[in-house]
Parts: sequence; C-alpha cells; structure tokens
Amino acid sequence: VAATQKRTVSFHADTEQENMERRVSLLGELEGAIEREELQVWFQPQLDLGSNEIASVEALVRWQHPTRGFLAPGHFIPLAEKSNRIDSLTIYVLRKSIDALMAWCDEGIVLRAAVNISARLLSSRSFIREIEQLVSTSGIPRDRLVFEITESATLDDPEESTAALHRLRALGIAISIDDYGTGQSSLSYLKTMPLSELKIDRSFVQHAHKEVSDAMLVRSTIQLAHELGLTVVAEGVEHAECLEFLRSAGCDIAQGYLIGKPMTFDDIRTITAEYSRK
Ligand code: C2E
Ligand code: CA
Ligand code: CA
Ligand code: CA
Repeated sequence: VAATQKRTVSFHADTEQENMERRVSLLGELEGAIEREELQVWFQPQLDLGSNEIASVEALVRWQHPTRGFLAPGHFIPLAEKSNRIDSLTIYVLRKSIDALMAWCDEGIVLRAAVNISARLLSSRSFIREIEQLVSTSGIPRDRLVFEITESATLDDPEESTAALHRLRALGIAISIDDYGTGQSSLSYLKTMPLSELKIDRSFVQHAHKEVSDAMLVRSTIQLAHELGLTVVAEGVEHAECLEFLRSAGCDIAQGYLIGKPMTFDDIRTITAEYSRK
C-alpha cells in the first residue's frame, strides 16, 4: 500500500470532482499523445561499481502536455495501467529506448537500457508477441535490454507471467525485479521467476549510510541476491557516503541523483564521457 500511495500524485488544490474529470480527460488524451509524440523518454544513468563506468540507463517516460506542462509519470502511468493504454505506452518507450541504444552505439557508446514493465502486462499474450517482434526485427544485439518488472498489484496470473518471462529471457532480455522489498510477494518471485537482477527500493537505500537497520537490510539483500546469482542495483543513491557504503557492501550497480538525474539522450553522451575520463 505504501508504495502505491507514494507513486500516486495528488492534486491538493482540486476538489474530488475536478480531480476525477482531469483523470478521465488525461486518459482520453493519452492515446493521441503517443501518436503526436508528446511523450518523451528520458534516461537516468546507472553506474557500474566494478568498472566505475556508466554501463546502463533506465528509461523514464515524461509527457510534454500542450496545456498542463511537463507531466511526471505518476500523473498518467497509474491511469494507463488501469486501462489498455499501458501496452502501447510501453511499446513506445521500448522503441525509443532501442533507437537511443543504437544511436549511442553508432558513436561508440555501448550501453544497456532498462525499461519499466508493469507486471500485469506479463499476462497479455499479444503484448509479449509484440515485444518479440519488435526486439527481433530491431537488430539490437542480445543482452542490451533489461525489463524492470514493476509490481503495482499482485500478479494476475503467476503461471502465465512466469512463462512470459521465460520467453523474454529467450530473446536475451534480462529481468529485474523493481522496488525490491516493497512488494507483497518479492520472496516468492525469487523462488519461481527467471530473474537476472534485483533492484533494491530507494526507501532502503537512501539512508543506508546512516541508518543501522537500513544498512543491515541492504547488506543482507545483496548477499541473498548474490547467492542466487543475481546482479544487484541500488536506486535512490543521493549521497557520496551512501555510494561508499554500497561499494563496501558489494553492490554491483548504483543509480540516483548523486550520479545523475533522469536526462536527455544528449546528456547521457556527456555523462558517459565524463565517467570514462575519471
Ligand atoms: P521507478 O521505476 O522506481 O523509477 C525511479 C524513480 O525515482 C524516477 O521517478 C526517478 O526520477 C526517481 N529517482 C531516481 N533517482 C532518485 C534519487 O536519487 N532520489 C529520489 N528521491 N528519486 C530518484 P519518475 O521518473 O518520476 O518515475 C516514477 C515511476 O514511474 C517509476 O518509478 C516507474 O515506476 C514509473 N514509470 C516511469 N516510466 C515508466 C514507463 O515507461 N512504464 C511504466 N510502466 N512505468 C514507468
Ligand atoms: Ca524502475
Ligand atoms: Ca524502482
Ligand atoms: Ca522505487
């Protein structure tokens, strides 16, 4: 519940009625927004703690709305998830991410991209088929894509979802479990799903350098993940002390404002070069 509330953006100044009308109209506009390319995909750098290079990025969608301004995903992703718009939105983000990876690659910058996939999409066969088609016709090399499975509710159909994940793995896509530690069935996922990576939620990471209990949870999660053969990503790294703590705890990849905020395609080029000179 806490994780869902955290993500839902409230419009304090509005009445419930206005609030509802706004949601209904935003949802109606979303499909057109995708066609008009009002959605932008930004990228947040992920630092590989072994090589100290930017090795990957997370794709994060924003909406440049003609009248409401620049909207963060909290304003429209939950709406899209409740409707069928989330599949076309996700395909759009994936397509833009593949284009970016190929364009960086042409300049000699080899990166991987993590794309957020709502868990409920895993039970859609048509969605999985579309992904297979897009990935296999795009010419993107294997091992360049990570799907971060975001759990907004419990999985509709665990067996179907597990089968879908196996098909994605067969395409060379790595599977990460997002916001690890906040979900309802994280431990059972570790047992049944073909995962490659575990992404520790920022609520545990943010203060891990100064909160003993957070440090303990992060350290033991890293150990557990490594014993299961999984890569560990820590999100929400805001302080240099936190990064040092993560290094000493054996974390593989760090992401957060300390390293870089979500940024444009061009800025990724700059930050990647900065790290390779360091
Ligand atoms: P997330 O997957 O947990 O993404 C990380 C969010 O944390 C991003 O917010 C990012 O800007 C923010 N963040 C990154 N580093 C830090 C930090 O050091 N400190 C703090 N306080 N925050 C940090 P953003 O971009 O607003 O995205 C919010 C959520 O929207 C994402 O959470 C993700 O669940 C969802 N989302 C974004 N893009 C997509 C998408 O294409 N598809 C789906 N299904 N969901 C998406
Ligand atoms: Ca994510
Ligand atoms: Ca996350
Ligand atoms: Ca999170």
